[in-house]
Amino acid sequence: MSRIYYTKPSIGELEVRYATDAAANGWGERCYEYIDRFEKGFAAFLDVPYAISTSSCTGAMHMGLAALGIGSGDEVILADINWIATAAPIVHVGATPVLVDILADTWCLDPVKVEAAITPRTKAIVATHLYGSVCAMDALLDIGKRHGIPVIEDSAEAIGSSYRGKRAGALGTFGVFSFHGTKTLTTGEGGMFVTSDRALYERVLTLSNHGRARGETRQFWPASIGFKYKMSNLQAAIGCAQLERIDELIAQKRAIFQMYAKALAPLSSHLSLNVEHPETVNGYWMPTAVFHEHVNFDRDALLAAFKQHEIDGRVFFWPLSMLDLEGLQGPVDTPVAHGIYRRAVNLPSYHDMGHAEVERVAAVIRQVCCRSVNDGLQPRVTGGSSVLRTTRAGLP
Ligand SMILES: *Cc1c(COP(=O)(O)O)cnc(C)c1O
Repeated sequence: MSRIYYTKPSIGELEVRYATDAAANGWGERCYEYIDRFEKGFAAFLDVPYAISTSSCTGAMHMGLAALGIGSGDEVILADINWIATAAPIVHVGATPVLVDILADTWCLDPVKVEAAITPRTKAIVATHLYGSVCAMDALLDIGKRHGIPVIEDSAEAIGSSYRGKRAGALGTFGVFSFHGTKTLTTGEGGMFVTSDRALYERVLTLSNHGRARGETRQFWPASIGFKYKMSNLQAAIGCAQLERIDELIAQKRAIFQMYAKALAPLSSHLSLNVEHPETVNGYWMPTAVFHEHVNFDRDALLAAFKQHEIDGRVFFWPLSMLDLEGLQGPVDTPVAHGIYRRAVNLPSYHDMGHAEVERVAAVIRQVCCRSVNDGLQPRVTGGSSVLRTTRAGLP
């Protein structure tokens, strides 16, 4: 039985050809060719004027926050459910992450909670499009506008997602993307900063070049302390190939999600999958099942069963407020975030996955998770236990 990875890149002949060309020829005068092409191509794909490639999404976010002048004493609002990479740059610039609750269907920022968390110190709102779901951008942009606060889009998981015809990442003051090996478009490691604000673009460009301004004629003359978060030409070569295939990469993510939706449709009274509201398109980076509160669901039992069947499962992100990290808020009142994470798992999705693999995953879910329905057991109270209920779940 071959292993089903939770994700893996789709690297074909084109990627190998471009990477080989960059390795053989992309030096000296040609050392920026693929970088320029990747940035221009990505900006065109997103329909924004400016894009700067970076070594990671985290680096792109760090520079963007710094370029907005966010620092010590400032507050930045983000969802309690987030990968740590979204919060870490806020801490790195010396600001305080303010964690607020999420909406139950998109798992993204609740605009009402965002507005309630605004103080005179609030300097930005970070909208993370979780697992491809699109944030309530109209409401968030309206709040930002009324309070004079920039809205930043963490679009690391949202290539292929859009809102009212605009691509995720192109709606806020700036957007950041990740090309980590697990993401829909990959360069191994890598990221992108995008914006429509020319002045902001110039500031990030200078910061990204160790503080050396574009027009500076003196060699090795920084005007400020900057950063070194650059993408290499070799990585950009792979990025160019992936970008040529982007429609195909996104279409397959969406097709895989539809296969899950069909395979799990009989369990629709037990679990919900990623939503796609009418005004949005979901890039479905990671299909995710959230089991309803009344369901007899044990996340650890399901993950153990996946493991036994050579299937990668992934836990939903923990509420950041649970992590007990210096720089992050401790307990906060985020009942939706705290109610969801234990009832949710990410399901495998990679380009070469087909019906057979999706069916294998769905079969384990049907067998393990909803046994209470299958064999008429009474639902038990959910949550809390991390003890593996292997016998209970019907495993050997
Ligand atoms: C992957 C990811 C990041 C971090 O991306 P890197 O390129 O690894 O820095 C940030 N935010 C979200 C939501 C992500 O999924």
